[in-house]
Amino acid sequence: MTGSLIIVGLGPGAARLVTPEVSEALGAATDLVGYGPYVARVPERPGLARHGSDNREELDRSRLALTLAAEGRRVVVVSSGDPGVFAMAAAVLEAIDAGDPAWRALDVKVLPGISAMMAAAARVGAPLGHDFCAINLSDNLKPWELVEKRLRLAAEADFVTALYNPVSKARPWQLGRALELLRTLRAPDTPVIFATAVSEASERVDTVMLRDAVAERADMRTLVIVGSSQTRLIARPGGAPFVYTPRSASAAPAAGASS
Ligand code: SAH
Repeated sequence: MTGSLIIVGLGPGAARLVTPEVSEALGAATDLVGYGPYVARVPERPGLARHGSDNREELDRSRLALTLAAEGRRVVVVSSGDPGVFAMAAAVLEAIDAGDPAWRALDVKVLPGISAMMAAAARVGAPLGHDFCAINLSDNLKPWELVEKRLRLAAEADFVTALYNPVSKARPWQLGRALELLRTLRAPDTPVIFATAVSEASERVDTVMLRDAVAERADMRTLVIVGSSQTRLIARPGGAPFVYTPRSASAAPAAGASS
């Protein structure tokens, strides 16, 4: 039997946001590898071995997946959202890059999923309608100074900025620090979207102005989108406003706007 390794994204949470292509791969798998809560999203069935692990064990998990595939198993590695966005696809490729040369010959594929920023953006309208960037606020895998540098330069370039991993139990202060810094770089009436558990029963999505944004609003299941100078709201009677960033922009405004 020839083994294979498919790295998939399960989307933001709801089963109907899993792509048909990913469902097909899950249906044919002999082994599921991933962070425990993501593995648990896939229904059990006979013939499917589940290898759930802790969040911080990405490289070990990747090596396990590669070892199983080399033994001839049909392995699926699961991530939330898209597997290429702050997730397992890069971890598996790092393991191949540094590991057993035989792993390079394995049948390895990456299947896309709906990333949290796409799901969150769609809830409020089109905040990512013009140029944007995504920053992982976790300083587990990079120094905090680099996060701040990227926040500063993203503000200078006037990118809409999606913030993944804004807080965790081990990282309680980072989002507060980021918002403090952003208030010195972007206008106080910049729209900020807090989107929590998008597509799940506990979903909560709010849009506030940067001057009113508080870090305590976010948890581990929250994606934060900070608008650019062009991002605007359309008020709607009896409902949340639309938030969008127009498709065109003129010359970039100076950084440090504080009108
Ligand atoms: N690969 C994933 C991101 C993994 S990092 C993706 O493409 O979406 C985990 C972070 O993703 C969380 O801290 C949160 O910021 C965001 N996230 C994941 N699922 C989410 C959801 N349903 N709603 C809001 N944010 C989510």
